[in-house]
Amino acid sequence: MTKPARDAAQKPADHYLDDIQAAGALPFILVHLACLGAIWTGVYWQDVALAVGLYGLRMFGITGGYHRYFSHRAYKTSRWFQFILAFIAQTSAQRGILWWAAKHRHHHRYSDTPADVHSPAQRGFWYAHMGWIFTARHDTTDLAAVPDLAKFPELRFLDRFHYLPAFILAVAVWFAAGWSGLVVGFFWSTVATYHGTFCINSLAHVYGRRRYLTGDDSRNNWWFALLTMGEGWHNNHHAYQSAACQGFRWWEIDTTYYILKALSWVGITWDLHRPPAAVVRGEQRLGKAIIEKAASQLVATFHVEQIAARLQATLADTPSLADVKAELQHKLENARAQAEAMLASLHMPELHMPSLPDLHMPTMPTLPTRDELKDRAAAMFVRTPSMDDIVDRARQLLIEAVCARLAVAAA
Ligand SMILES: [Zn+2]
Ligand SMILES: [Zn+2]
Repeated sequence: MTKPARDAAQKPADHYLDDIQAAGALPFILVHLACLGAIWTGVYWQDVALAVGLYGLRMFGITGGYHRYFSHRAYKTSRWFQFILAFIAQTSAQRGILWWAAKHRHHHRYSDTPADVHSPAQRGFWYAHMGWIFTARHDTTDLAAVPDLAKFPELRFLDRFHYLPAFILAVAVWFAAGWSGLVVGFFWSTVATYHGTFCINSLAHVYGRRRYLTGDDSRNNWWFALLTMGEGWHNNHHAYQSAACQGFRWWEIDTTYYILKALSWVGITWDLHRPPAAVVRGEQRLGKAIIEKAASQLVATFHVEQIAARLQATLADTPSLADVKAELQHKLENARAQAEAMLASLHMPELHMPSLPDLHMPTMPTLPTRDELKDRAAAMFVRTPSMDDIVDRARQLLIEAVCARLAVAAA
């Protein structure tokens, strides 16, 4: 599978790394340093068992709470259990419920585009993993993104005092299990939960397989799914975000979903949303936004400048195209839209004539035919019933881009 070339020069020229606030990262660093306390407290099997239990509890709070319930409303529950979920999620010390959900909804809206909150493809692995959390620009919560959550005063309270649940848990662990329990049971599992969660933003957009065309870099990764209680089926999730399950096939282990299902048997959760069978089989036609993204990715693999330069040279040097050139220049002067329509109907068969002048280009770029575009799309993307739509849109975008260059040259 060919990944579209991402030229560093195409990346936004903002100074996002300058935005990282050292003071904001301090509590995070201290939690990591606290883990070293085990040198003095010792490590006992009871503390390790406590750490594993607290990791499982809090990872469920994140996947079943922060993510599937609060960010995606993938199932329903009562108001009291909603509060319990938010409290458990916030014992992970990953900031408030409103902040988390707002940032996550933003991620899905702009996945792997320059506007994405945390995209490894845009700003590097470590920024996506944890750097973004400490930036001033991501410090605030866009309440307009979470009106369905912000209407609950108890959730606003938790969000305001976002470290309170983690502090209460730490104190309770200290009372119950002493210093070694606090260091190993609480701090070790807090750090493990941090990086398990952060991997969803970083690793799950880099390593693994893509089953569905989602217009972003989300991947399915089985071992990561085991570690994160189902979140490793991230490509599935990006393909159908409102599902309570992220493992779409029976063999895709999704512990969070099993817990949610068990809770539904005793009436605590209900209306667990499942993906339609056509989505699971990859037979659902894609939405306009994904088609647009995929078409743009396909176009990005062509050298528009070189195609335009070659086209321009061909029109100038080939006598048989003199009429075409005159007409094209006339149309370029009058209207870019008309020129686009004309180029679209030309199909430029003359560009493949052996008598064309050698432009000393490493590749001999020409306006690709529809079949050429289709072949490249098939190599780049996983199977989708919308492949023809992507190819047609890509051809349209490519022609527009070439016309824009020609118009500039003709001016
Ligand atoms: Zn994602
Ligand atoms: Zn999500």
